[in-house]
Formats: sequence, structure tokens, C-alpha cells
Amino acid sequence: MLAEGFDLHRPSSVAEALEFAGRFPGEFRYLAGGTDVLPGLFHGLGATRHLISLQDIAELRAFVPEEGRIGAMVPLGTLAESPELRARFPAVAEAARQAASPNLRNSSTLGGNLLLDTRCTYYNQSAFWREALGYCLKNGGEECRVVQNRERCYAAYCGDLAPSLLVHDARIEVAGPKGRHLRPLKDLYDPQADGRTPFRLGPGEILLSVSLPHEKVRSTYLKLRARSAPDFPEASVAIALTLEGKKLRELRVAASGVATVPLLFEDLTLPLIGHAMTEEVARDLAEKVSRRLHPVTNTAFPPDYRKHVFRHFLMSGIHELQSGTH
Ligand SMILES: Cc1cc2nc3c(=O)[nH]c(=O)nc-3n(C[C@H](O)[C@H](O)[C@H](O)COP(=O)(O)OP(=O)(O)OC[C@H]3O[C@@H](n4cnc5c(N)ncnc54)[C@H](O)[C@@H]3O)c2cc1C
Ligand code: SF4
Repeated sequence: MLAEGFDLHRPSSVAEALEFAGRFPGEFRYLAGGTDVLPGLFHGLGATRHLISLQDIAELRAFVPEEGRIGAMVPLGTLAESPELRARFPAVAEAARQAASPNLRNSSTLGGNLLLDTRCTYYNQSAFWREALGYCLKNGGEECRVVQNRERCYAAYCGDLAPSLLVHDARIEVAGPKGRHLRPLKDLYDPQADGRTPFRLGPGEILLSVSLPHEKVRSTYLKLRARSAPDFPEASVAIALTLEGKKLRELRVAASGVATVPLLFEDLTLPLIGHAMTEEVARDLAEKVSRRLHPVTNTAFPPDYRKHVFRHFLMSGIHELQSGTH
């Protein structure tokens, strides 16, 4: 028993974890580092009867940076300190370095970060606080407190790792009751969902690992946060950019902290491949991307400021990658 009302299970293989999941349909949560699940449970968020710990499953801890393979249970601290990762996938190492604090990075895992619950000033509060307000859509209430409506939650996805992996075209391996499969990381997120749990994972499915392509691509990650000590992104941008001569061979841009899911802007960057990245093209791209962002007033900084800084980050990230400092 971990605390009153929660049973803790410790499977030692993926098959055993799936078996537990099958035994408690709709009444369990997977527990990785617990840095999001446990504070939530103690505040009465995401209540559950069973916690299935993934800690003892060796397969999920595999880390082969030279092959771009990262198990879901690899701590963010390991990613932040890996020289191979920094050399081959700089945005990923940098995003891990900027996430949370050193002690939290040692417990937080990659899988938990990719599946981090969405956040909002009206949700990440004590049970007393939320009860006094009368709850909201994400927590059993009838309407959203930020954008007055009864259909959609606007809580922000605030994981640092997802955008950095999206610009490196990462894939994920998932195991479920029907077996294992690979799919693009971008398919893990559902922008059309009602915002409360915007992840595309079937009942009982476990995220096993992330794999990155072999090709080396220049990349960077820039993050706006209220304090430089542990703070979630208010807006962040990951950029991967490779030039062939003066022309773009590869360009991807992704964002976190500004919507219910991490955003990848492939439709805006693909048409630029094969063209020169001039100042005008960069400015036009920054303008178009920022027009797609619709942050709401549910984090520390005002939405307009977050958009403004995002635009600035995107421009300076492109300059940095063009000048070859990464
Ligand atoms: C004070 C504080 C500051 C923070 N600052 C930042 C920050 O700046 N940037 C940032 O990105 N994060 C930040 N975090 C969040 C923290 O990094 C994440 O909570 C962490 O990455 C989650 O990892 P975890 O292993 O602890 O996940 P858990 O809390 O164990 O799990 C998170 C969710 O993922 C699910 N899950 C986990 N692993 C799997 C899996 N393999 N398969 C299926 N489901 C799974 C769990 O069921 C749960 O729903 C902060 C947290 C705190 C407490
Ligand atoms: S965005 Fe609205 S519904 Fe979602 S957590 Fe915040 S107040 Fe609640």
C-alpha cells in the first residue's frame, strides 16, 4: 500500500505490466518517476485505485544514444548529460537540461515527460482551492474557467522533451494487449481531443521507447519560463535545420507550452525545403507560425507576451543554426 486507497504493483516485465493493466481496467495508472502522478494524487488529481510501477522493467531503461534509442524509463538527467546525444541530437539534450531541476531530472523519465498531464492555473491547485472555486471541466466541473465554455479544456501541454524529439522526426514503440507497434511520435498527440487528455494511447498501452533517425541534423531548443530554476515552459521552440550550400535540406519547427499538445508545423516548413533561408523567409515563417498559436490566460505570463517571445526565439534559433554555432 503506497497511501490510503492506492495499491502499488511492481511488475518486472512488460508482459506482466500488461497483465496487471488487464486485471484492473479503468482503475489503474502507470507510475514511472512519479514526479507528476504522485503530487497530482496527493492533491486529488487523477485519482486511481492501482498504481502499476514501471521501475523494475529493465527493458524500459535501455539507452543507446549512438543508435538514437532511448527507453521510456531513462531519466531526463541521463539525457541532459549524454555527450553522444548532445553531439547528434542537440535539441533533445538541451530540452532535458532545461527541464525541471537537477534532483527532479534524476527521477523524471522520458516516457512520463512525453505523457505529462496538461497544466492550468485553475487545475494544478490543492483540493481545497479547487473545491472553493467549484471545479472546472478537467476536474469534474461543468465549465472551463479560462475560456468560458462547456465543451473544451485549454490546459497547456508543458513537457520540454516532445518538441525537441518531434523536430528530429522521432518514432515511438508502444506495447498493448494486441502486441507491439512503432509509430511517429507526432501521432501520440491529438489536437482535436477535448483538451483534457490529449494523448492517443489505447487502454493499458505502455510507451516502451523512442527512436531517432541516424542522420545528424543541427538543432536547438529555446524556452521561456518564469524562473530559471524548476519551471515549466511558458512557450518553447525546437528547431532542426540543415543546409546544403545555401539551401535548406531539412527544416522542422515545434512548440510546447502554448496549446493542449506539442505542435509541429510541417505544412509551413516543408515548402521551404530546397530554397534559401533568407532573413525575409525566416521572418515570414516566424509570423506564420506565431499566428497559429492561441495560448490562453492559464499560465504565469500573458498570452501575447508568450507569442511575442516565441517569435523572437524562432528567429534567433534560425540565426544560431545558420551561423553553425550548433
Ligand atoms: C516542481 C516541478 C517542476 C517541473 N518542471 C518541469 C519542466 O520545467 N519541464 C518539464 O518538461 N517538466 C517539468 N516537470 C514535470 C516532470 O519533468 C515530469 O513530471 C516528468 O518528466 C514526468 O516523468 P515521470 O517519470 O515522473 O512521470 P510520472 O509522473 O510517473 O508519469 C506521468 C504520466 O505518464 C504516464 N506514464 C509514464 N510513463 C509511461 C509509460 N512508459 N507508458 C505509459 N504511460 C506512462 C503516467 O501514468 C502518468 O500519467 C516538473 C515537475 C515538478 C514537480
Ligand atoms: S483550461 Fe479550463 S477546463 Fe482546462 S483546466 Fe483550465 S480551467 Fe479547467
